[in-house]
Amino acid sequence: MTSSLLALSPLNNWPERSDTPLLISGPCSVESEKQYIQTAVALAKTSKVHLLRGGIWKPRTRPNAFEGVGEKGLEWMVNARKECGLPVMTEVANAEHVEKCLKHELDALWIGARTTVNPFSVQEIADALKGVDIPVFVKNPVNPDLQLWIGALERIQQAGINRIAAIHRGFSHFGDSIYRNKPTWEIPIALRTAYPNITLICDPSHICGRRDLLQSVAQKAMDLGYDGWMIESHLDPDNALSDAAQQVTPEVLIEMLASIHIRQAQSDDIAFVHELQTLRSRIDKVDEEIIQLLGKRMRITEELGRFKKDESVTIFQIDRWKEILETRTMLAEQLGLSKEFILKYLEQLHKESIRTQTRVMNKRD
Ligand code: PEP
Ligand code: MN
Repeated sequence: MTSSLLALSPLNNWPERSDTPLLISGPCSVESEKQYIQTAVALAKTSKVHLLRGGIWKPRTRPNAFEGVGEKGLEWMVNARKECGLPVMTEVANAEHVEKCLKHELDALWIGARTTVNPFSVQEIADALKGVDIPVFVKNPVNPDLQLWIGALERIQQAGINRIAAIHRGFSHFGDSIYRNKPTWEIPIALRTAYPNITLICDPSHICGRRDLLQSVAQKAMDLGYDGWMIESHLDPDNALSDAAQQVTPEVLIEMLASIHIRQAQSDDIAFVHELQTLRSRIDKVDEEIIQLLGKRMRITEELGRFKKDESVTIFQIDRWKEILETRTMLAEQLGLSKEFILKYLEQLHKESIRTQTRVMNKRD
């Protein structure tokens, strides 16, 4: 199935900005009119923020937590916009939210991770957006399912929305992790690979869940060529009514982003381009050698399969597999390769080797 997302053009000119990364900031939740306007003014003063966020309907994991101020917050957001001149956006989870936001003429909307998982909800939002021209940001679903994320983006696009962006906010997991939501970078990278024109924004706040990790995640996003960030900011983070541990003051936000190194996707420098090509052709050659060697290894595996078949010996030999794991990881570590990487490689190799031997053994002579 070819996706209409292939035809997307980047959000680049919205909202108007130079070639700096798009920065969306504001508190996790709109708490009071005063809090929101003061935050908006502080963020606008930095001249680095393009778009103000603020949640008014808050999806909370457990009951009895602060669930947002609701519709009255929309008026406060509009007043903040008047006061500081920045466009405002909030999270919508159903058609009623969309209608209320449109009535108050909000500038943009986002769909939260807990909503993206549900095609019924996303379709309801898409239907409410038909015939409307408003930018929509779609957060990744809480579970690491690329197709579900793509499906949500497609539903919004098929409602006629052209200014669409994807926000990467990490994925739920069970067990220990330094992150609140694991970044699993390969998923947004796969999204970008499939749809090169999609605007991709990183949300370090919800990935990290804590302040001290924000900078490294924000930097990684730039290293991977993301278009911008959504980062929560609060005047008094420790006393925020939601997501206190991950919020930073506007000053800390700007200080943190100032230390981020922004890389360009390309360079016109002739010497650089030449050196890049030289290095790439060396890599091409090594990749070819690796593939040749893998082919050679698999041919030996086939021979091994025939040999075991003749002797009626089982394919899987636990001692041999343990020996392979031990000797190869030891060598790999001596060469500075990570254990995680080599184990993944060996697992794939072993799987393919078993598949090959199974085919040989079951072949009728
Ligand atoms: C939020 O942005 O405050 C929020 C609830 O985000 P997410 O959907 O990523 O959990
Ligand atoms: Mn939040």
